[in-house]
Amino acid sequence: MARILIVEDEAGIAMGLQDGLEAEGYATDVAADGVVAEAKAREGRYDLILLDIALPGKDGLAVCRDLRAAGVQTPIIAVTARVQEIDRVLGFEVGVDDYVTKPFSARELAGRIRAVLRRAHGPAPARAVWRHDDLIVDFRRFEATRGGRPLDLTPTEFRLLRTFVDRPGDVLSVRELIDLAWGQDTFLTDRVVYTHVNNLRGKIERDPAAPALIVSVRRVGYRFDA
Ligand code: CA
Repeated sequence: MARILIVEDEAGIAMGLQDGLEAEGYATDVAADGVVAEAKAREGRYDLILLDIALPGKDGLAVCRDLRAAGVQTPIIAVTARVQEIDRVLGFEVGVDDYVTKPFSARELAGRIRAVLRRAHGPAPARAVWRHDDLIVDFRRFEATRGGRPLDLTPTEFRLLRTFVDRPGDVLSVRELIDLAWGQDTFLTDRVVYTHVNNLRGKIERDPAAPALIVSVRRVGYRFDA
């Protein structure tokens, strides 16, 4: 069970986050100011820190900067309330992994947490170029070839393939695919995802009728076998 440190000075918001995250199956702990948050985070018992920026005691960005300087690598999602804070989060290299802007939906937050945890615990990011047999995909240039012949992948198909390539062997649900390949706020029906997956299979599989790369896992989703 992943442990999340919630850093939030407004008790009502902290309790709401705690309830929501525990309902998602996470263990949580709360720190109400920056100094306590930093002390707890330095103990290193957390898989993720949800860090409000405007905090008494010590500002969230200062907490983040000092944790990173101290070698604490725990993934951090910054919680910002104002545009000026977003600018500061993005404008300074303080080591934030992602951020959400208040007000955010429970679903958006859950999606971001899943994505950050997956990146933190998953394999190192794949290289820009991925090869499999005579299939070569350059994700930076959006070019794909099979046996030297170009494959006409759409940008969506590149993103989808990148998502699979980064998670070999993982079974991904349709919801996870949407979160990872399109983004958490995207609303797509399952059928649209099936269509994109099938189109991608048609281009990269040797026998699209019997896919060997993007394998269907009944009632769950897809697994990338490469
Ligand atoms: Ca606050």
